[in-house]
Amino acid sequence: MKVAVISDIHANRQAFEATLEAVAASDAAELWCLGDLVGYGADPDACVELAREHAAVCLAGNHDLAVTGEIPLDEFSRGASLAAQWTREVIAPKNLEFLSGLRPQGEEGAIGLYHASPRDPVWEYVLSTLLAELCLDRQVHRICLVGHSHVALSFVRQEGELATGEPRREGTELDIAAGEWLLNPGSVGQPRDGDPRASWLLLDLDGLTASFQRTDYDIAGAAAAIRAARLPDSLAERLEYGQ
Ligand code: ZN
Repeated sequence: MKVAVISDIHANRQAFEATLEAVAASDAAELWCLGDLVGYGADPDACVELAREHAAVCLAGNHDLAVTGEIPLDEFSRGASLAAQWTREVIAPKNLEFLSGLRPQGEEGAIGLYHASPRDPVWEYVLSTLLAELCLDRQVHRICLVGHSHVALSFVRQEGELATGEPRREGTELDIAAGEWLLNPGSVGQPRDGDPRASWLLLDLDGLTASFQRTDYDIAGAAAAIRAARLPDSLAERLEYGQ
């Protein structure tokens, strides 16, 4: 079975809809979401509803947990905190209830799922090989999926070797049949690796390959929605740069 893995949608309806179309056109049988449905963007209700409809698996991210009140806003940047407060005011009760039922970690068969990292499912950004080593030491699954950093990347540790890792561009296909892996699909709704297109991962659970995907979407539309909602302008602008 092939699975489309997504993360960090961040209330970007335009990006999520385009990604769902691309996933539907692929041979993925299921959609797994690693969290952060809301925060930053202007369409929290639409994104939660699309996730409810399409995702077989859905984790909670730190922004989701901030909106439900499960974690405090003090650790968030100003823009993130303002967006979380705005989301609390506008989100429909049934969608808030859905977010309240989500957890930041899970497992599907032999695959470990975490919003952020196996060591800290809510907050840790795994962006260095040092942190990847510590996570690989901790993780019980040979293959783990993480989101949170908004950077599409992979880390691997082969038997007796140190971990290596790098950001992954569109079209990269990895053979993950051997070794311990941490894979990040990148972000659907707010990519931060310089490529503004929505980012996702096609995971083949039988063939044991991971293929990195990018999908064009209506960035101007998503930015206009952020401005119309009077959220911080920087949240609109960064979408154009993939930062
Ligand atoms: Zn995020």
